[in-house]
Amino acid sequence: MTESDKRQRIAANWQQIQSEVDSAIAAHNRPKESVLIIGVTKYVDAEATAMLLDAGCRHLGENRPQVLWQKAESDAMKSRAVQWHMIGHVQRNKLRRLLKHQPLIHSVDSTRLLAAISKEAMSQQQTIRVLLEVNISGDDSKTGLTADAIGKLLADGTPPAIEITGLMAMAGWGTDTDAARRQFAQVRHLRDNLSQQFQLPLTELSMGMSGDFVEAIAEGATMVRIGSRLFEGVID
Ligand SMILES: *Cc1c(COP(=O)(O)O)cnc(C)c1O
Repeated sequence: MTESDKRQRIAANWQQIQSEVDSAIAAHNRPKESVLIIGVTKYVDAEATAMLLDAGCRHLGENRPQVLWQKAESDAMKSRAVQWHMIGHVQRNKLRRLLKHQPLIHSVDSTRLLAAISKEAMSQQQTIRVLLEVNISGDDSKTGLTADAIGKLLADGTPPAIEITGLMAMAGWGTDTDAARRQFAQVRHLRDNLSQQFQLPLTELSMGMSGDFVEAIAEGATMVRIGSRLFEGVID
């Protein structure tokens, strides 16, 4: 595949996903532009990631901290306007270099990690926005906090230099779209309850990927994380 074919294919995929997201928004009577599309670029190199930016995507997600910073600091990407999203597990020893790129962290899965983000954010004199990752499928192989653990974490209060703005979730492996939709509805209910109990806005719901973003939008997702559909025809 030539560079130019790749570029065209990524641009076409981006247009297609935008229109499918818009249709889902309209079909479920959600306000226009109420869903942010995060382009998940973990499948591709910095050059192809830059092509997605050229197509118009401004929010990029990576699941490994070191890949996020390597791309952000690469020749193809540096000095470009990007909001980065950290969507995978974060090791505490990776925070210093990660936070320099001011990511929204979707994958806070322990109070220890939250405390470490707070400490590093304070030392870098910035405020970091985070989402709490909820393990809704009850799947042991999945990361994320149980509903009870999230309640306990919020009861302790938000540590300094952190803004907790919502929840992130993934449907369990192998769930069909109906089951995924029920899990997304559970996440929304959990958010509504927590928001009321702790008097926190918790406006963001990061849920939905290539295979289930329509169901997630139906249940109130404000951020969908889309990877493979955006790189269809470019990756195997
Ligand atoms: C890879 C990944 C995605 C994107 O998944 P696709 O099915 O490729 O769209 C979304 N969220 C997380 C946490 C991921 O690791």
